Amino acid sequence: MYSNYHTHTALCKHAEGMPVDYCREAIDHGLRVLGFSDHCPWPDGLWDSVRMAYSQLDTYFAAIQSAREAFPQLEVHAGLETEFRKDLGNFIPENLLCPDRAEYLLLALHSYLDSNGEWQDSWRLHTDEGLLGYARHAVEAMQTGWFTAFAHPDLFAHGGCVWDDAAIECSRMILQTAQDCHIPLELNCNGFHRKLIRDEFGLPRRPYPYLPFWALATEYDVQVFVGADAHRPEFLFSTNEDCLAVAHYYGLQVIETLPIHRT
Ligand SMILES: [Zn+2]
Ligand SMILES: [Zn+2]
Repeated sequence: MYSNYHTHTALCKHAEGMPVDYCREAIDHGLRVLGFSDHCPWPDGLWDSVRMAYSQLDTYFAAIQSAREAFPQLEVHAGLETEFRKDLGNFIPENLLCPDRAEYLLLALHSYLDSNGEWQDSWRLHTDEGLLGYARHAVEAMQTGWFTAFAHPDLFAHGGCVWDDAAIECSRMILQTAQDCHIPLELNCNGFHRKLIRDEFGLPRRPYPYLPFWALATEYDVQVFVGADAHRPEFLFSTNEDCLAVAHYYGLQVIETLPIHRT
């Protein structure tokens, strides 16, 4: 592998290292493309405990620019890992995907808006309505055209869902839209650092990558990429092989380069 587009920084309050530290690690391991995608801050301070303050956004992009200048041998991209704040209208394209800010956005639904307009936590989904709410939010997000790729689309499985009709419908909604909108889906390395849970047969499974989801993905024309989701420089390379093994086992179409058109 020569690229990684899912990299955090210490600004998010639960990661270590700044862009230069990740660049150094990347070069040591022969990486050629490194994209930063720290958790996106919001002007209203929503979910601020796990992300930089909105006022730090320019500091973040300046730190990436300094790293880019310090390591010209590396292709460095500036991005953000972003929830779909449809409650903020066009805030995302107007204030995040604009000159001097992000070149690309990774969609990530750590939370989703339910049918009552309330934010719900995607980490603990276990009802049919929850799974379908997550999927509906994902579909709407992908259809905006604002997101270059979808990080851990199978995060819905973290709460311990079983592979029933609702989980299959949720997965099909996501996969069909990713195919229609040409959104690459991420096999997320960070899932391999998480504690095992039990599936409906009592067998241990990772909370994600959720293997039934990736098996179903073979029925669609979707591209997948491996994202380190590194919260420490040494995690840039810790479990990439595991994600690649999943991709190869199912025969998924792996890409190394995300379609970033901005400069
Ligand atoms: Zn994080
Ligand atoms: Zn992440």
